[in-house]
Amino acid sequence: MDGKNSLESSKPMTVYVWDMDETLILLKSLLDGTYAEAFNGSKDKRKGIEIGKQWENHILQVCDEHFFYEEIEDYNEPYLDALNEYDDGRDLSKYNFHNDGFGFPYDDWNKRKMAYRHRAIQEKYSQGLYKILDQQTVKNWNDMYNLTDSYTDGWLSSAHALLKQTLKRTKCQNINVLVTSGSLIPSLAKCLLYQLDDVIPANNVYSSWEVGKLRCFSWIKERFASENVRFCVIGDGNEECEAAQTMGWPFIRIDHRPISPYRFPGLTMKSVLSYIDVAYESSDANVEETIESLFLLSKEKDDVYLEGHSLLKQNTETQSCLSGP
Ligand SMILES: [Mg+2]
Repeated sequence: MDGKNSLESSKPMTVYVWDMDETLILLKSLLDGTYAEAFNGSKDKRKGIEIGKQWENHILQVCDEHFFYEEIEDYNEPYLDALNEYDDGRDLSKYNFHNDGFGFPYDDWNKRKMAYRHRAIQEKYSQGLYKILDQQTVKNWNDMYNLTDSYTDGWLSSAHALLKQTLKRTKCQNINVLVTSGSLIPSLAKCLLYQLDDVIPANNVYSSWEVGKLRCFSWIKERFASENVRFCVIGDGNEECEAAQTMGWPFIRIDHRPISPYRFPGLTMKSVLSYIDVAYESSDANVEETIESLFLLSKEKDDVYLEGHSLLKQNTETQSCLSGP
């Protein structure tokens, strides 16, 4: 993996650890109707369900037709580089993936064949779907994206815009990492289909399916940690909340209900940064005392702190990990 050695260690860096489902994208809440229900009748629930079903079809199609999913779905790895030690770097341009005998048992030979597949998937991810899909499928996919974005008042595009902003900060060298409880290959397909591939590289996608989020967070810490690095977890679930607490990282809980300010569109770079600043400044202090002093400070001087303070309060008091939205 391209670890911390390849990074400019002198620049401060924030590693944003994103959850995918119901955070950067909406799918489950469209399919089960909870997204529409939160709007008290102003959203067409059936339309949301139909949109969700069409996304499922798109995801499966990319997995099966381009990512070898039918043959490798039983061998989920937590990230694409996990099998690098088995990859001998062979030129794959003429390699016959259909006839190399990949399958059970999952021994060293088959792990090498799996590593080839991971490399091929990574290359396709880098190329992007416009180079992989035919013209008609690209049109259908773009129409679906725009329809979903419109139905959700811009959830997809505003989440993408925030990720893009994290990378634009010139004084810092920031990184977006995705940790999802879904299996790896469909999650990579989702990143491509939901147009997140320009802000999250393939080797920054982790599947916690078997290993859990805490293990993934530990790998991420091992990979990126140095004295100038801060971490922030943004997700909707209790598992990432608890794992963030264990790691001592700030956690921002996304809530798709329209009354919540911690959703898309709504969540801003300013509020995320102020929350991280407040959380890191208070990490060694008594949280209650810090909240009090920051509250006074924000009243007198600085609205940015007020936003951070508000988020910190939300995450430490109103919404503990055990009480979901
Ligand atoms: Mg989630």
